[in-house]
Amino acid sequence: MQFVRPLRLSTKRIVSLRPIPITRYHRTYATTTTTTTNSAVIYDVVIVGGGPAGLSLASALRSSPATNALRVALIEGMDLEPLRKWAPEPRTYSNRVSSLTPGSVRFLSDTGAWNHVRGERVQAYDGMNVWDGVSGSQISFSAGLQGSESTIAYMCENNNLVSGLLSRIAELGEGIDIMDKTRVEKISFGEDNGELDLRSWPVVQVSSGKQLAARLLVGADGANSPVRTFADIETRGWDYGRHGVVATLNLEEEGEKIAYQRFLPTGPVAMLPLPGPYASLVWSTTPQNAAALKTLSSDGLAAMVNAAFRLSHVDIDFIVSNFKAGLVDEVAWREKSTSFDTSRVPSRVVGVQEKSVASFPLKMRHADSYISERVALIGDAAHSVHPLAGQGLNQGLGDVRSLIKTLEFAVQHGQDIGSVLSLEPYFSEQYLKNHVLLGVVDKLHKLYATTSAPVVAARSLGLDVVDKLGVFKRFIMAQAAGR
Ligand SMILES: Cc1cc2nc3c(=O)[nH]c(=O)nc-3n(C[C@H](O)[C@H](O)[C@H](O)COP(=O)(O)OP(=O)(O)OC[C@H]3O[C@@H](n4cnc5c(N)ncnc54)[C@H](O)[C@@H]3O)c2cc1C
Repeated sequence: MQFVRPLRLSTKRIVSLRPIPITRYHRTYATTTTTTTNSAVIYDVVIVGGGPAGLSLASALRSSPATNALRVALIEGMDLEPLRKWAPEPRTYSNRVSSLTPGSVRFLSDTGAWNHVRGERVQAYDGMNVWDGVSGSQISFSAGLQGSESTIAYMCENNNLVSGLLSRIAELGEGIDIMDKTRVEKISFGEDNGELDLRSWPVVQVSSGKQLAARLLVGADGANSPVRTFADIETRGWDYGRHGVVATLNLEEEGEKIAYQRFLPTGPVAMLPLPGPYASLVWSTTPQNAAALKTLSSDGLAAMVNAAFRLSHVDIDFIVSNFKAGLVDEVAWREKSTSFDTSRVPSRVVGVQEKSVASFPLKMRHADSYISERVALIGDAAHSVHPLAGQGLNQGLGDVRSLIKTLEFAVQHGQDIGSVLSLEPYFSEQYLKNHVLLGVVDKLHKLYATTSAPVVAARSLGLDVVDKLGVFKRFIMAQAAGR
């Protein structure tokens, strides 16, 4: 793959500063598309990436009266057909589930997509139990604290969201060219053929051989974004040296619909509710532990997850690195001699759904900018965050909401939607907000990764104090809920 960015920018603009009615626009460009090296089809917006962020943007662009006349293409490497026809088994859940804040769900509702998400597979939760795996200090949140909101967040499979977005886009009719099973192979600038000057326009060459010239190229193409590379935007950050192990858990009983998170020195372990007696696991731990957990049988992993919420962190590390055969008995034996607050821990796990165990390396990354001339980045292409606060996709949806607002303004005021000047409000609104959240999550990870006694004492005191101060808790919850 090649991403070529010559060191020249056009000063000559071919884009009218007034919005062009779609009929005229099509006619104008449909007849003059043999403008670049070969024939590039001209689009107002080319989105690379058909994950939740890219599809949310496509759906929102078509839903907004201000932007629905824009000509849009979306390029996705994977086959989206299975998600168009998504027919999951009722009691089986995907291992990639995101906790969507009420703010994210409101945005998806406003753009007409949330109606297409299968509600029976979404689980709202109204409480969170979070505690320190070393000192036992805890903090609990309940929706009542938030005032009007009755829900903290909604657990939704990424596949459910993507499938709902595809269905919403189909409902909106023609207007978006979705090219799936199509990879971006090269991005370069166009040429000036005398009739059209595309020297400042990104031209995307895709695996089907087509070329697409973009007035605005949006990188929704994930953490290794080819669009970001093309735009020469650097990222800062680090790898955590931790992997997030995910799995779908079968529970002994349905239990309360609340989220549980215990901070262990190797990383937090979280169990989040799904409909029925099921839950989603996100266990951040060392690569060695993650590899060992992935080799366990369903019974073995179920026992280890139970241990993670009940046993001491020393016992957990010892068992995971020394046992495979006999692990279930070892956990049961150690549990008998460990005291823990039974009202705080989640329902017991009795099994793990087949093929649901996977792991992902965790990292923190933030792009230096989300925009450059004719380029905008959204979602994981712009930032990757540790999953301990369940905010990655929520941040991505926040980007989409902000970018749509920016593009609506640009269209309504006759601006060129690809110019840095038009895109600037998007960058100003999102960058600092995301930066603060990335920083807080990063510090939380570091604060809880230590077993040093003074640090444990200080953080436990802090947690106990915050737990008793309703005003702080309300503030934290409002932030977490995306308000
Ligand atoms: C363990 C774990 C738990 C998480 N839990 C939560 C949670 O509870 N709440 C939350 O909000 N977030 C959560 N997240 C984060 C969330 O999953 C991501 O932020 C989100 O999926 C990113 O979506 P995206 O659309 O930006 O990127 P992606 O989902 O990565 O989509 C990028 C798309 O671009 C396509 N693509 C890339 N390169 C090319 C190319 N060259 N050509 C064509 N297509 C290309 C890819 O195929 C892909 O479909 C979690 C993440 C992890 C790892």
